[in-house]
Amino acid sequence: MNSQTTKTFPYLNEDIKTDVLIVGGGLTGACLAYFFTEAGIDTVLIEAEKLGYQGTSSDTGILQLVPENTVNRRKTLSEFPNFPYSFYRDMLQNFKELPDVLVNRCGYNEKDYLLYSDTITGTNELTLEYICRKEKNIPCSLLNSFPGLPMKTGIFQENAAGTIHPFSFMHYLIDCAVENGLKVFENTKAVQFQNTAERYLCKTNYHNIITSKIIICAAGSETDLFTERKFGQKSCRCQLLSEPLENLDSQWKNTIFQNIRTNTRFYVTEEQQILLETIGNSRNILSKSNQLEHFLYELTGKRQKIIRRTVSKTIETRDFLPIVGAEPVNPSLLYALPYGTSSVLSSIYAGKALCSLYLGNYPKDFSFISPGRSSL
Ligand SMILES: Cc1cc2nc3c(=O)[nH]c(=O)nc-3n(C[C@H](O)[C@H](O)[C@H](O)COP(=O)(O)OP(=O)(O)OC[C@H]3O[C@@H](n4cnc5c(N)ncnc54)[C@H](O)[C@@H]3O)c2cc1C
Repeated sequence: MNSQTTKTFPYLNEDIKTDVLIVGGGLTGACLAYFFTEAGIDTVLIEAEKLGYQGTSSDTGILQLVPENTVNRRKTLSEFPNFPYSFYRDMLQNFKELPDVLVNRCGYNEKDYLLYSDTITGTNELTLEYICRKEKNIPCSLLNSFPGLPMKTGIFQENAAGTIHPFSFMHYLIDCAVENGLKVFENTKAVQFQNTAERYLCKTNYHNIITSKIIICAAGSETDLFTERKFGQKSCRCQLLSEPLENLDSQWKNTIFQNIRTNTRFYVTEEQQILLETIGNSRNILSKSNQLEHFLYELTGKRQKIIRRTVSKTIETRDFLPIVGAEPVNPSLLYALPYGTSSVLSSIYAGKALCSLYLGNYPKDFSFISPGRSSL
């Protein structure tokens, strides 16, 4: 979902001091910068290359309530009875509560959400899922057909999702943060850290030193510099964008579809194109890409021209949850890593929650996404 921007920022060519240093200028770094500067905190953001050119540039832009999966259910349901719906619903609410100008300018469209299956096994899983949601009074309905979709069962929830343009959103957040005093440096890479009881020293690729009270890792999949721990497994996402389609049913345009079995999701863009996305490992992603193309053929009844096909690296935690919070052995290092489902919402949450943590308020329900959790 690239959109054009000509804005650039200088590289850092002197030693500086700040209260908070954000390392990584993708959507997560931008969300952090937005909330920290809005709270009047002295903040610097450094980006190794150009803002938003890594994960954020290929983000499909879907904001969705997470489907409950077996790992989440086993590990966390006993401790957090309202998880994950209330958590993700609050995260979607966080987004909607951002100033109107931000929400409107990032191309937000509210959508319905259909979690569906085209197999008998998936149907059983979805029926359990439906019962679970009903027990939690989540307004949704169980469908056994949807016009034009090869589906056996589906859970349909109105207004439970949305789409945005992540790259534009990131730039609007940075604009606001710069107005509030953020200092941004592109082509400035953190290469080494040293920390003492009171401060953090970060050395950059041009041998300058940034001194800060805390440092926040918003470096996406590049965490080796911060820790030896591996937080998740590397995987790939494949995306296809079709040519514009005619005569699409209006219900199609209002819905985000997610197939529970194949982990494929898709929606119709404002330009009437179908944007499909799936996840796999690097070895099987090409066959997944072919499957996506075949699926598009089945959906529309004819071979569609593919306007764009991309494969990008991503990381998934074992419990599909983000990593947000302080490093257990070093509380002046915070992580904001939106791995897993609904990363855009996790990025916004990370910005709000870590700012609140910095100001001394420990956000509720924090432990199941903390870097020290047992499910990692
Ligand atoms: C193909 C694809 C589709 C996706 N679709 C969705 C979706 O529909 N919905 C959703 O919620 N999420 C989606 N995601 C997840 C997506 O990754 C996140 O939503 C989000 O955009 C990631 O932002 P980020 O800032 O955490 O990471 P990134 O955008 O990767 O930013 C990290 C930045 O840190 C910089 N950096 C790294 N190391 C250093 C260093 N040492 N010093 C300075 N800078 C450094 C990098 O250069 C990079 O710019 C998708 C991901 C992919 C790959």
